[in-house]
Amino acid sequence: MRIVLLGAPGSGKGTQAQRLVQRFGLPQISTGDLLRSAVARGTPYGMQAKAAMDAGLLVADDVVLGIIRERLADPDTARGYVLDGFPRNLAQARALARMLEAIGKPLDAVVLMEVPYQQIVRRIAGRRTCPQCGAVYNVHDVPEGQPLRCTQGANHPPLVQRPDDNEATVSRRLEVYEKSTRPLIDHYAGQGLLRTIDGDAQADTVTARLIAALVQSTRGKAKPKAKKPRVKVRAKVKAKGKSKAKARAKTRAGAKRSRAGKTGGRKRAASVRKRTSRASRRGAGRRGR
Ligand code: AMP
Repeated sequence: MRIVLLGAPGSGKGTQAQRLVQRFGLPQISTGDLLRSAVARGTPYGMQAKAAMDAGLLVADDVVLGIIRERLADPDTARGYVLDGFPRNLAQARALARMLEAIGKPLDAVVLMEVPYQQIVRRIAGRRTCPQCGAVYNVHDVPEGQPLRCTQGANHPPLVQRPDDNEATVSRRLEVYEKSTRPLIDHYAGQGLLRTIDGDAQADTVTARLIAALVQSTRGKAKPKAKKPRVKVRAKVKAKGKSKAKARAKTRAGAKRSRAGKTGGRKRAASVRKRTSRASRRGAGRRGR
């Protein structure tokens, strides 16, 4: 399945994408993670992206599209993937559609996770990430006094807060979401791809809703028609051609026959008239005798 998770920052896209990864073995493609990694490695894409990320703005489309194009070419995406944080505006959505159209593998579903803003701000403030594996946690999800550590490996380092998860940047990111990303809701709804779930619940509940929405999406899809073998199609076309030619020949022959029939009829009628008039003349003679 090729899935897009749509939602404001802090709506739980990352957490739910990781759960889909565990459940279905599909790779999670998070442009945020890819950009952070590019920044950390100091790649040309990373150097271009850093200032925009620090300011809570969108990174330039050509940078993000370059990163996505490279990632979608990786063999692990052949069975599908979960896009998390991409696309984030209409230009990206259209570019993605063109990319997928070119390889004949369009999106299967777009799921919008709706969470009230108050909740989003609380979640972002409590969000912590494992710097080694990128697993996302929230301080609000653990009982008070209990340490929050990455559960993906005993030797994983302590969790950290993302530099752009501060109050000023968060409000900018939410503005950007409203202006640039929200229009994608209508865009995908218009294509019949959008499913909306209430994301304001415990992670397990949201996962159950998400999976139900995905099942609904795949059920709603028409099964692709089975391809007919090419050779048969050709044979049919040929046969059609032949029978057309035959029909044309038949029509010509029929027309000829009917023309001949008409002339023959006229000839026959004339000879009958001749015979009748001769006989009547003979009869008149006999009568006159
Ligand atoms: P995220 O981890 O998805 O919240 O993304 C963190 C930051 O990375 C965003 O605030 C943007 O600056 C940048 N970013 C991530 N995805 C995109 C995208 N699709 N287009 C532009 N910028 C992005």
